[in-house]
Amino acid sequence: MTHALIVGAGIAGDTLALCLARDGWQVTVVEIAPALRTGGQTVDLRGDSRQVLVDLGVIDAALERLIPQRGIAWIRADGSRMAAMPVEAFGGQGFISHEELLRADLAALLHDEARAAGVVHRFADTVDALTDTADGVDVRFRSGHYAVFDLVVGADGTHSRTRALRFGPESRYRKPLGLAHAWFTLQEQPGTAGLDGWALSYNEPGRRGVTARPGHDGQQQVGLTFAASTVPRDRDEQLTLLDTVFAGTGWRTAEFLDAARTAPDFALDTYDQVHVPDSWSDGRVVLIGDAAWCASPLSGLGTALGLRGAAELAHALRQHDVQDGASSARVAAAIETFEAAMRPRATAAQKLLPGRVAMVAPKHQWGVRVNALAMRMLQARALLPLVEELAGSRGHEPALPVHVPVPADVARQPAPDGR
Ligand SMILES: Cc1cc2nc3c(=O)[nH]c(=O)nc-3n(C[C@H](O)[C@H](O)[C@H](O)COP(=O)(O)OP(=O)(O)OC[C@H]3O[C@@H](n4cnc5c(N)ncnc54)[C@H](O)[C@@H]3O)c2cc1C
Repeated sequence: MTHALIVGAGIAGDTLALCLARDGWQVTVVEIAPALRTGGQTVDLRGDSRQVLVDLGVIDAALERLIPQRGIAWIRADGSRMAAMPVEAFGGQGFISHEELLRADLAALLHDEARAAGVVHRFADTVDALTDTADGVDVRFRSGHYAVFDLVVGADGTHSRTRALRFGPESRYRKPLGLAHAWFTLQEQPGTAGLDGWALSYNEPGRRGVTARPGHDGQQQVGLTFAASTVPRDRDEQLTLLDTVFAGTGWRTAEFLDAARTAPDFALDTYDQVHVPDSWSDGRVVLIGDAAWCASPLSGLGTALGLRGAAELAHALRQHDVQDGASSARVAAAIETFEAAMRPRATAAQKLLPGRVAMVAPKHQWGVRVNALAMRMLQARALLPLVEELAGSRGHEPALPVHVPVPADVARQPAPDGR
């Protein structure tokens, strides 16, 4: 059996693992965290995301986990609304869709499917050395374990270790966008202000943004966005930094800063893009997902690209029959096919709309007001065609099928457009 190692049990990693296992590969996934990582906000099921989940035969399971949402509202410090965009805006193509689920739920769904297909996961471990041999890659794990693989896939996110080992330091590829973002789950207590299905967004001058979005069963997904190009790795230092940056910020910010201290899924990172020019592969080592092309959460397309990229790589490996014999020539041909399909999509997604950073976290109070005004005007009937054009060009279309094999016992659901 051909044996693949996938580094990172995230969206891209477990999707690829599932596809390869169904194609007859032996698949090992190594994940640095001690268990599957939870946390993160919602991901929507439009375009590529929906199509790949349909092709995988897991769309029904994903739809069962939808978060009931009514829309997004931009609010003042007292919670009153300056502007709102319901999920129905632009025929369902607005900022918030009625088909969204938590990233953690999607990751868990893909992970369970991958395990059921026979994928082996090694948690709390990572790769320490990747050495080419005559017919494979000799991998030394941090745990001291060694094994040889036909293919090694770096799906280990923006700060990819696989990329650092084979392509060079992160500084060569990381393009910080000048913002950082903390996120965590807040458990509603008696007296917590409910969201009633609305994602709420509050901004203060000085590039400080505070959001709360509905989660499951009395949970709220909180986000704190601010200006920074680097952040500390130590959790205590991160919390101190947030306290300093958000000191005196209005609305529910003080409550959120308190909750961050005890949230089990608290995380803080910069908003970055990853640009790896020329090639995402080096011999039998290839990058996918954020490790290869992170477009940043500001693109709204990270999950769609992760899913799509995994499905495209599996498709290319299948087209070149790599599962039946992983010669260097076949692997190289498959990776070339994969790059040709994915690079234009990734490059397009990395082109953020002008002013996107300022929109998420305005510098001045007038910027906060202009944002709210723009959100109201965008929904004016006369501007709808322009907005729909912009939304369409942002990568939600076209969603092409990638023909992932679905086991016979999994019902195949048609895409909304009938493909
Ligand atoms: C916990 C979490 C929450 C997120 N929340 C959001 C969000 O709210 N909004 C948004 O737009 N995007 C979010 N993202 C990013 C989003 O998941 C990706 O942009 C997108 O889904 C592409 O997925 P990926 O598989 O390439 O990367 P990811 O989903 O980030 O997965 C990468 C995986 O690799 C693991 N990993 C990292 N380093 C190593 C290593 N050295 N060895 C082994 N494994 C390693 C990570 O622990 C993670 O499980 C989040 C990612 C994570 C991990």
